[in-house]
Parts: sequence; C-alpha cells; structure tokens
Amino acid sequence: MTKLLNKNVKELLASEEFGQKVVVKGWVRTKRGNKNIAFVALNDGSVIHNIQIVIETASFEEELIRKITTGSCLCVEGILVASSGQGQKVEIQATDIIVYGTADPDVYPLQKKGHSLEFLREIAYLRPRTNTFGAVLRLRHAMSFAIHQYFNDRGFFYFHTPLITASDCEGAGAMFQVTTLDMNNLPLTPEGKTDYSGDFFGKQAALTVSGQLEGELGALALGKIYTFGPTFRAENSNTPRHLSEFWMIEPEMAFYEIKENMDLAEDFLKYLIRYALENYRDDLDFLCKMWDNELIDRLQFVLENDFVRLEYTEGVKILMESGQKFEFPVSWGIDLQSEHERYLVEKHFKKPVILTNYPKDIKAFYMKQNEDGKTVRAMDVLFPKIGEIIGGSQREEDYDKLLSRVQELGLSQESIWWYLDTRRFGTAPHSGFGLGFERLMLFITGMANIRDVIPFPRTPNNIEY
Ligand code: ATP
Ligand code: MN
Repeated sequence: MTKLLNKNVKELLASEEFGQKVVVKGWVRTKRGNKNIAFVALNDGSVIHNIQIVIETASFEEELIRKITTGSCLCVEGILVASSGQGQKVEIQATDIIVYGTADPDVYPLQKKGHSLEFLREIAYLRPRTNTFGAVLRLRHAMSFAIHQYFNDRGFFYFHTPLITASDCEGAGAMFQVTTLDMNNLPLTPEGKTDYSGDFFGKQAALTVSGQLEGELGALALGKIYTFGPTFRAENSNTPRHLSEFWMIEPEMAFYEIKENMDLAEDFLKYLIRYALENYRDDLDFLCKMWDNELIDRLQFVLENDFVRLEYTEGVKILMESGQKFEFPVSWGIDLQSEHERYLVEKHFKKPVILTNYPKDIKAFYMKQNEDGKTVRAMDVLFPKIGEIIGGSQREEDYDKLLSRVQELGLSQESIWWYLDTRRFGTAPHSGFGLGFERLMLFITGMANIRDVIPFPRTPNNIEY
C-alpha cells in the first residue's frame, strides 16, 4: 500500500507528487458543478488559496453530496493530480469523503463573498473563515513571530511585566479597575470613600496601561529587554485607531540615548515590513487587491526611504505656515492631533517622520528633560495613514529631576517609590518606546479600522465574544 500524504493545503498546492494518495481536511468555500461532477474549493486556513476537490457524484451517496455546502467541514481522501483548470496547478480527485460538520445554507451567515467589514464585525466569531481575516490573522502571527525574532537576534530579552498593577502613573489613559469587592455593598472608610483594605490586594488595583515602568527595571539589570503583551485603556474614544484592549511592544535599553532609540525604532519597523513582504506576499497581494490598492507601494516606500527626523518646534512651524485649515488649530504647546501628524507625513514630507523634543507639559513625567527647561526628549514615529505608530523617549535618569516632576504633577510618590529608587541605585541613561501592535497591523494590512486587525476587538459597548 502506498502511504497516505497528510499535508495541509499550502503544502499540497506546492507539491508535485502527482498520482499520490492524499488526505486533506478543511472547510468548503464554494461548491459548483452539475449532476455528474462537483468542484469544491476547500480551505484549511494554512494559506489564502483553496485546493480544488473534484467529486464524481456517481461514486458517492446522494445524501453525502447534499451535505457538502458552503461552510461545511470535510475530510477528503483522493489522488493528487495536475489540474487543467485555471488558476491552480493541482487538484484532488476524491475517492473517500467524510463530512465532519454540516452548515445549513438557510442559516450559515457566510454564504456569499463580498460581505462588508461592518457585517463581519457583527459575526466576529466566524469571520476568521473569510479570505480577508485569514490573511490578516496569518499576518498577525507573522508579525508576532518576527518581533521576537528581531529582538532575540539582537540580544534583547523578553521580559514579562504584570497585567494587574497598583500604579497609575503613566498618565496614559483611564484604567479598568480590578476588584473582588461586592459592588452592591461597598465597604466605606469613615470619610465615605471606598475602603480597599478588604479588597483582594489590600489596595486599589487596575489593569495596566503600559509595561514600561516595570520594563525599565528589567533594562537596568539585563541591559536590553522588550515586553510584548496586552494593555488596557478605558478611554471612551470610539476611533478607528483605538482599542480598549490592545497589544504593545515595549523595548527598553540601558545606555541608549534618544538618537540610538530612533535608529532602533526605524530599523525595527523596516525589518517587520520587509519580513511581511518576503514571507507573506500572497496575503499582502490579496489585501492590496481587495481593500487598499496602494498597500504594497506604501510598504515598499517606507522601506526605501529614511525617516525624516524633526523637532516638534519645527513641525509646529511647518503646520502653522502650511495655510492648511485644520479642525484643531495649531500653536506651540498643543498635543498634535492625527490630522496634524498626517499632514506632516503625507503632504509635507511624504515620508515617515520622527518628531522629537516635545513640550514637557504634554508628555509623561518620566521623559528626560532638556536643558531649555521647556521640552523633553520624546520621540513619536508618525506613519502615513496611521499617524502615531510609536511613542517613546529617553528616560529621566536623574533622581532629583524626576522627583520634582512627580511632585509638580501631583503624582503619587508612594505608588512608584520602587521606580524612583532605580534612580538612587545605579542609575543609567536609558531609553525605550512603545509600538502599538494593532497600529502596526493597520499599516501592514492596509485595513482602515483597528477592529479588523484583532480577532476579538474590545471597544466601548462591545464585548460579545
Ligand atoms: P494616541 O495619541 O494615538 O491615542 P498615545 O499617545 O495615548 O496614543 P502611548 O501612550 O504613547 O499612546 O502608547 C504607545 C503606543 O501604543 C502608541 O504609539 C500607539 O501605537 C499605541 N496605542 C496607544 N493607545 C492605543 C489604543 N487605545 N489602541 C491601540 N493602540 C494604542
Ligand atoms: Mn504617544
């Protein structure tokens, strides 16, 4: 007996072992044909393309053939043959079929092609079975893998920071509280405030908005670290670029100054883009054709150009002199809106921009203060279509300067005494940044809404599955 080849669709499509008996399992995308012969396009998620199954209906029970409908799941045994059909090299002539699961055509929601992304969001539990989400999710895997690869190859250590924390110092956004107190019967202090002493951790706790503060502790011991985990922000901003639960990559490097931080950010982003182009071209081509005709060009373009490096003050000047009418007017000191960031990137420079030296009042307390007393060594990387994709800085390593900033801003010294202590015990110049993983995915896939680059988006009023 010849052995049965058990390969996935991706492997079979690349195989040339014609005449070989194979088994393949997957979901039916389409079925067409006539009374005598049926052609089934089968997809198993391994690749964007389907494999064609040819079924001579006379060789099978009628009942079985009827059960093969869009969405049903099959196990097919057959012979791998060269295909004479268009657009495929191989197909399978079925000899044996098991229907693992039927999908009643009257109720299965993914009957036809070309569903809107809005509709697919409503059936997020099934949308991974579409071509679009298959491509997006494979690319999501690809980028996760490439991120680990990039850092591992360069001597960074993957450092795990806690998801539940007691510090709200990032000032990065509202936090989701974590508690085991009885919400219908909250214990109160004599002053009438919630008494957290009986709560699970004995004090108020929340989901983290960033792993950075703890990441710095890692860098000041291991040298170069990165985090890659979920973060949570309870800001009620219903935009196409914000999620309530998103993933963040945060490298943190001892002895890096702002310049090296920028070099790393640029090299890192280019590496990821190149990785996608070199390894997942089929998925990118599909997304380019379906949703964003300029996708491949845009990816190439970012790869081929140096990022512009510009001071905030210069950027504001350009915006003010642009003659462009913005919804939010521009003046020195404002926090730039995405319309401003995109003007600089898409209209003015037509290149990605790294903006540095922001006013200290609009940036976090931990950023290194410049000599001018007004600005801090922040760096935001701004991308076409996205706006801010990375936010980072050189960190303030001077204990007194850091402490005075904490006090100025009225932050709770008690909850970050451990962070301040790193500046008392062997402090060092260091830098880092945060890349929002889904912002990266927006750029890589060309999708327009951040809800479409994560399997199960969390946004205000949206937590069904
Ligand atoms: P923005 O101004 O775009 O709201 P931010 O300045 O609040 O972002 P940071 O605190 O600098 O963001 O976070 C670092 C990175 O995390 C950002 O550059 C962005 O890529 C990503 N990010 C921030 N907030 C979100 C969010 N709500 N959903 C998805 N990604 C986010
Ligand atoms: Mn930012």
